[in-house]
Amino acid sequence: MQREDLIFVGTCDLAGLVRGKAFPAADAAARLRRGVGFTHSNIMMSAFGPIYATPFGTEGDLMLVPDETTMVQVPFDDGPSERFYLGDLRATDGGYWDHCPRHFLRRALDALHEATGLSLLAAFEQELVYTGVEDRPGSPYSLDMFRRQNAFGEALMGAIRQAGVVPDSFLPEYGPRQFEMTVKPTIGLRAADEAVIAREMARGVAWRLGHRAILCPMLEPDGVGNGTHIHFSLCGPDGAPATHDPAGPHGLSAVAAAFAAGVLHHMPAIAAVTAPSAASYYRLTPNRWAPTWTNLGERDRGASLRVCPVFAPEDDADAARQFNLEYRVCDASASPYMALGALVFAGVDGIRKGMALPAAPARGFWDMDEAERAAAGARPLPRSLDDALRALAATPEAGEWFGARFLAAYQMFKRSELQALEGLDDRGICARYAAVY
Ligand code: GLU
Ligand code: MG
Repeated sequence: MQREDLIFVGTCDLAGLVRGKAFPAADAAARLRRGVGFTHSNIMMSAFGPIYATPFGTEGDLMLVPDETTMVQVPFDDGPSERFYLGDLRATDGGYWDHCPRHFLRRALDALHEATGLSLLAAFEQELVYTGVEDRPGSPYSLDMFRRQNAFGEALMGAIRQAGVVPDSFLPEYGPRQFEMTVKPTIGLRAADEAVIAREMARGVAWRLGHRAILCPMLEPDGVGNGTHIHFSLCGPDGAPATHDPAGPHGLSAVAAAFAAGVLHHMPAIAAVTAPSAASYYRLTPNRWAPTWTNLGERDRGASLRVCPVFAPEDDADAARQFNLEYRVCDASASPYMALGALVFAGVDGIRKGMALPAAPARGFWDMDEAERAAAGARPLPRSLDDALRALAATPEAGEWFGARFLAAYQMFKRSELQALEGLDDRGICARYAAVY
């Protein structure tokens, strides 16, 4: 059998799935310039496969152009290597297509830079269920669970590193057969590229071991959620940390506080992008270390925006370097490009409008009843994707973030996904998503 080396180029699309086409490796030079042909309606391909609705019909041509910096080339002991690029959807004249998820993030980062001169440093912490390990009682965080996943963790961390991403940690999580992988923070667009690469490495390694890495936010309605937590901080052109000010509210600098205020303000709306599946909302429920309110909490894993701890800082500069916020209203049904883009657009709106954080309440957030939490400036998160899509529709700024046509397409896309679930009960809905993610 003669084999031809193929390289895949994909985008992590509106469904949060990497989709694209492969080309012979021998053509790489030309493909890096012109990419592969794509059509507008490709972006409307649903989580479940079919295009349920599209404003684009059957017409139009685009190029999916690899970004050379994203190259993944990871050999495995037997069978084909992982060889892929992530890319941008461009018009045939080469300009970025205004519905391209990766370009949505690029535009958000440009807006941040324009408003503040700052960049975003981010790292995605992703939870998943590995099916190649037996679930036994007592396994959360246990060495025994860590041992029993056998080669998966080491092969995953090795694949991530070989793909050009620096692994941070791998651990047995709280849920049955649940694990978490974290990578080191990196700047801008690359942080989302790395989140996509880490997910694909998890799927690729699990598959080679004859199993699955399931990143679906909830495998069953009353289970333990798989969150995707986005750690982020702001930094200057030279990488100088700009998020920390010991004298500021919650230790935040003025610019970071306004950014966080924007994120909290727009959180119900951006949930439609960062927690964008029907399954996402089984996760955003009480008592599972997932957020349920639009609240900022210091070192609180129930908060939607968490001020993370600083560990044994050597000095003030080290504390400033470590200091970061964690956005927890996200899961793997979201494209990291769309999720990080929405987060940044919301933060930039906070900066532009000089939004302020609610005053720190006198009592602990969870000691207050719901009315007191509301009086302290928090709102419950959307209870469903439908709620979140309504909040997005009621947010005029979203028209600027997306552009009117992209926003309408996004609403159409997500509405048709909800329609496709009609008739399924909660268990059936989770199962449908678990088969995909
Ligand atoms: N599994 C939780 C979630 O859905 C998070 C647990 C943790 O804090 O690591 O987000
Ligand atoms: Mg975790």
